[in-house]
Amino acid sequence: MADTVLGERGPSLSSIQRLMNQDLKPQSFVLSKMLRVSVRASFTENANGYNVLGFIPGSDPFSKKVVIIGAHYDHLEKDVDGNIFRGANDDASGVAVMMEIARVLSTASRPKCSALFAAWSGEEEGTRGSYAYANRPFFPLSETIAYLNLDMVGYGQQLVCQISEAHKTLRTTLDESAVQLGVSISVEKFSGGSDHVHFERNKVANLMFIRWPDEFYHTPRDMDDRIPRKNLLETARLTALIAMRLIEVEATVETVTATVRVTSSSRTGIVTSGQFLTDVFSVNVLAIAGVVFIATVAAGVFCIRRPNIFHRRVVAAS
Ligand SMILES: [Zn+2]
Repeated sequence: MADTVLGERGPSLSSIQRLMNQDLKPQSFVLSKMLRVSVRASFTENANGYNVLGFIPGSDPFSKKVVIIGAHYDHLEKDVDGNIFRGANDDASGVAVMMEIARVLSTASRPKCSALFAAWSGEEEGTRGSYAYANRPFFPLSETIAYLNLDMVGYGQQLVCQISEAHKTLRTTLDESAVQLGVSISVEKFSGGSDHVHFERNKVANLMFIRWPDEFYHTPRDMDDRIPRKNLLETARLTALIAMRLIEVEATVETVTATVRVTSSSRTGIVTSGQFLTDVFSVNVLAIAGVVFIATVAAGVFCIRRPNIFHRRVVAAS
């Protein structure tokens, strides 16, 4: 579909991807086209999944130290009755917060260590994307300072942080950051259930932010209209501050003052995340410009061996 959108005279998707992987520079441009898309999907037992990674390089060119902030961008699709699972809280909320932090940190003064932003795929299939990354990491896991996971941070009252007792330095950073911002968090022990498991298994310091319980978890009613902006902002500010402390941004953390603005929301389509992410809020940060933000698509390609539940659903429906 991307090649059709790009048109016969434009560059092909594969040539754009090749350029991005070669130069590690964004290849964004305006298409100036209005699209009306209808999709007919079929499922195969084995398929490739794609993680999307973006990173801000640290000031030390020889350092491989990195802090990773991640969230999964995949979700369930339709049930046998054709109801769409939009996945606003699980996990467009996490990806929205992750992308805003990327934007915030890209406008801050240059950090000492690199920051890597990960939009994982295949989480709902069994954390396949993050598993693939842990097996073939972009930076060595031994050099990874911490992994901060965002899963379902939009809906719910209190922000819960899941963290193992072993990660004492990260726990201190979490506590100090929460106190500084006046954010109340409920700290729980690590119990898995999301993309941070593969970092825990590889002994990388990690935490997960989540708001739980959510009565519409994995139902078609997980939609963006019930997600308070303040929850997204609170999570974004706290996670950004933790990340800034960890990567030692040479700017005062007080510069992370933010305002939130809702412009529009989308309630159509299987994956609302695209519009949800870009429209739901924008954070204005008073910070010092100077860091290049580099994104590379297809930085991690992995194979999903589908459990084939959707195929069975489709068969059952027909
Ligand atoms: Zn999730």
